[in-house]
Amino acid sequence: MAQPQSFENAPINWIPAFVLISTPLAALLIVPYYLWTHSVSWQVWAIFAFFMAWNGLSITVGYHRLWSHRTYQAHPIVKWFLLIGGTLAVQGSVFDWCAGHRLHHRHVDDIYQDPYSAKRGFWFSHIGWMLKNYPSGHYDYKNIPDLKADPVLVAQDKYYALWILLANIGLPALFGWMVGDIAGTLVLAGLLRLVLSHHFTFFINSLCHMFGTRPYTDTNTARDNPILAIFTWGEGYHNYHHFFQYDYRNGVKWWQYDPSKWIIYGLSKIGLTWDLKRVPDVTIQHAQTEMAFKRAEKKVATFSGNLTSDFQVIKDRLNSEQQAFKQTIAEWQALKTQAIEMKKNEFAQRIHEVDDKLKDQFSGIEDKLRNHAQQIENLVNHLKGKHV
Ligand SMILES: [Zn+2]
Ligand SMILES: [Zn+2]
Repeated sequence: MAQPQSFENAPINWIPAFVLISTPLAALLIVPYYLWTHSVSWQVWAIFAFFMAWNGLSITVGYHRLWSHRTYQAHPIVKWFLLIGGTLAVQGSVFDWCAGHRLHHRHVDDIYQDPYSAKRGFWFSHIGWMLKNYPSGHYDYKNIPDLKADPVLVAQDKYYALWILLANIGLPALFGWMVGDIAGTLVLAGLLRLVLSHHFTFFINSLCHMFGTRPYTDTNTARDNPILAIFTWGEGYHNYHHFFQYDYRNGVKWWQYDPSKWIIYGLSKIGLTWDLKRVPDVTIQHAQTEMAFKRAEKKVATFSGNLTSDFQVIKDRLNSEQQAFKQTIAEWQALKTQAIEMKKNEFAQRIHEVDDKLKDQFSGIEDKLRNHAQQIENLVNHLKGKHV
């Protein structure tokens, strides 16, 4: 286990520190100079955009949702594409990234065991955790036995430096050669893309644990932030993700911007991904309703407006809604038990009929849960109106 005092005098991690400090400096100097002195064709900009997407999505769809959380299965073609794009990202091998990320989920916010704990502040969670050799950054790889069994991932980890050089210099040079501008492609699709992608990913560990809402849980610092979702290929819905990490979706509502989920889903339609894991709607609604109650209780406890007789009425209504909520939970539990029994006793050919019936019943529970949340929101709004 990590010793607290080892954080004080942690030695510098020379290679990551050099890469993470020199690349933004180089980009700041070289990119404006290059754009000022050269005209860049639309083809080079298109390659830059493609590399941004390839790099970014390989981290979210690949490193994160496929390898760290196993939220779906993928065809080898998809895995190779994601592995090359992930190597392009220069964020460590799949082994390193996933071992650290699984620790982040397991010990979220723990200042000694979460490798990028937001409780250590913006700088540490954004980039500082990689610059020094902190005890929380030592992984024993015991939490990635599934990944260690994959020979391709073993090869990526073993020859990581070579893979990085081939991907980051070889690929932009190859694409640049195809459109007749190797230097421009190296500067934009190589250097600028690398620096932007780095920091967009780092936002998830820093800003997504600081700014935004907590609709599903307040037991950790993770937030839902639709603006950050734009930069992070949908990973801004980080509060949902920390509560339901085995779901392939981060922006779980159909209207939430999560291109990573759309790609995983789209690929499943042509057989390239399968076994997509989803948390049942009723479970998601339950988390939201619980949070609505928590917010309401807090509002009532800290109410500083006119303490009229109305206030007592609101408190009573909150109590009775809580009783009704408990009743719905009991119904839900009973239905779950009943569902197991029904499936056990039903003939195989009629299972789908049972499933249809259960689906209706579960969505009935979901409606009730949503209704409780709505009632509570109304009460809170009413309370706000009383504030002077
Ligand atoms: Zn995660
Ligand atoms: Zn997180």
